Amino acid sequence: METKNRIETIFLVHLCQIEQQLLEKLGLYLEEIFPGNVQISNPLPVPKGAYNSHRKQFNSTEILSYLLTQLTDYDRFLGIADVDLFSYGFNFVFGEADVLHRISIISLTRLNQDFYDLPEDQNMFFLRILKEAVHELGHTYGLVHCPNSQCVMHFSNSLLDTDRKSCKFCEMCKSKLT
Ligand SMILES: [Zn+2]
Ligand SMILES: [Zn+2]
Repeated sequence: METKNRIETIFLVHLCQIEQQLLEKLGLYLEEIFPGNVQISNPLPVPKGAYNSHRKQFNSTEILSYLLTQLTDYDRFLGIADVDLFSYGFNFVFGEADVLHRISIISLTRLNQDFYDLPEDQNMFFLRILKEAVHELGHTYGLVHCPNSQCVMHFSNSLLDTDRKSCKFCEMCKSKLT
């Protein structure tokens, strides 16, 4: 009997108001890049307990722990939030991934021109979201940071790094993915 490889599902979980159209567009792009189907799941609230009033930011690690309690049947998922995230040791993070549980989260806050008091740019905003989504999901496949500044797995210390890199894996990272 022939055995078929089960196709994985990547869940997109939004923890903020976000246009359905944008989510669907992101899903289509991710399906091109990763070997899996993308499903948009029901929205969830950002857990209040993850808020640090001193820093006025949300702890991304705590949000990931919360998501783990909410989602049981999944292959991997990407949370999308619109609150400023931090992780210990960093002033802020664009996102975080938990390789062991194959879960990840990104924040839209610092990807939006609005945050820097600059005029809106929807194309740039989407491209940044795509890069951060691919980067964090890449971690869930076990990929680590790449020294190639054009590669999507390059670490973004600032938005300049994000804008500089592409939304694609370099050949080396790509070979590890499949
Ligand atoms: Zn990373
Ligand atoms: Zn690479």
